[in-house]
Amino acid sequence: QVIFRDYVTGFLSESDLLINSTTVNLKVPAGSMTALVKNLYLSCDPYMRNRMRKPDPSSPATALSFIPGKPISGFGVSKVMDSGHPDYKEGDLLWGAVGWEEYSVITPIPNLHFKIHHTDVPLSNYTGLLGMPGMTAYAGFYEICSPKKGETVFVSAASGAVGQLVGQFAKLMGCYVVGSAGSKEKVDLLKNNFGFDDAFNYKEESDLNAALKRCFPVGIDIYFENVGGEMLDAVILNMRPHGRIAACGMISQYNLQVPEAVYNLWLITYKRIRIQGFNTIDYLHKYSEFLEFVLPYLREEKITYVEDVADGLESAPAALVGLFHGKNVGKQLVVVSRD
Ligand code: NDP
Repeated sequence: QVIFRDYVTGFLSESDLLINSTTVNLKVPAGSMTALVKNLYLSCDPYMRNRMRKPDPSSPATALSFIPGKPISGFGVSKVMDSGHPDYKEGDLLWGAVGWEEYSVITPIPNLHFKIHHTDVPLSNYTGLLGMPGMTAYAGFYEICSPKKGETVFVSAASGAVGQLVGQFAKLMGCYVVGSAGSKEKVDLLKNNFGFDDAFNYKEESDLNAALKRCFPVGIDIYFENVGGEMLDAVILNMRPHGRIAACGMISQYNLQVPEAVYNLWLITYKRIRIQGFNTIDYLHKYSEFLEFVLPYLREEKITYVEDVADGLESAPAALVGLFHGKNVGKQLVVVSRD
């Protein structure tokens, strides 16, 4: 198991998590509505850092804080080993909420646990493209951004789990798409693998406003916001009137004790910009609609997906911490077991 030591202030470090061994009962009582699952793949997601904050009634981000001394949890792909639930039987594959551990006892919940029916695609994809991040890109782009053919789209953290898909969805829609990422390798991926029209390494730009002006001479219609901070400030300066910002996440703020100010926010009034936050949890009831949409593109190789795979539960703390230093190239996941 990966145990949560205590609430975290400042940057998450590997020492905030601890690997622990325990014993598990490999049977669950008949009729208990639970299932014992073996976790195969675990998904490393930035929101997990917010679950490490001390609970604070004034902050909705802390509503589901992890409990010190207990294993952390997140999304994963698992195999049923024993079941006391009528809808699940031994051998079934599923993705959904599980503990960061080799085995979990779960109470399957509709729209939080999904049986896997399509196994002609890589099983690990259910942590990313075919899992929660995929749903995030789908709901965030199509529902929140209200995109139209020919519009200009900017995606930050563009090579990551969510961003790489948003860019590809925007291209399918016939938009002009630019992404930012934190290394040359990632920028090359954006342009050469994911089909972005342009991309830049934000760490090498001394003036983000100028970089955006260079890429968007006529301005930005849609901003898919993954990072916040000074990027958001620069984007607002470059948004076109009636532009839309999908506030998917603001990873640059998650480890800060005091969030940064966004100085140009006042301009959204004059530019008639719509900024909307969203939580994928509210869209998971649309998962089967999403699968019907995305699977043909995946099978026809019209969508591609890059994963960054860490091996073994012991590597999970480093993999999770790495998200906040841009170490992951593509969707970060952990293989706990391959069968
Ligand atoms: P990624 O796979 O993109 O991994 C995180 C990436 O963020 C890093 O690789 C790094 O890329 C970038 N990053 C890290 N720290 C900073 C920083 N200080 N400033 C700028 N960039 C930084 O993660 P996901 O695709 O899983 O998540 C992307 C965003 O979407 C996050 O904000 C996350 O919280 C949000 N999210 C929201 C959901 C929702 O329901 N609203 C659901 C899922 C995700 P780089 O090298 O390019 O800097």
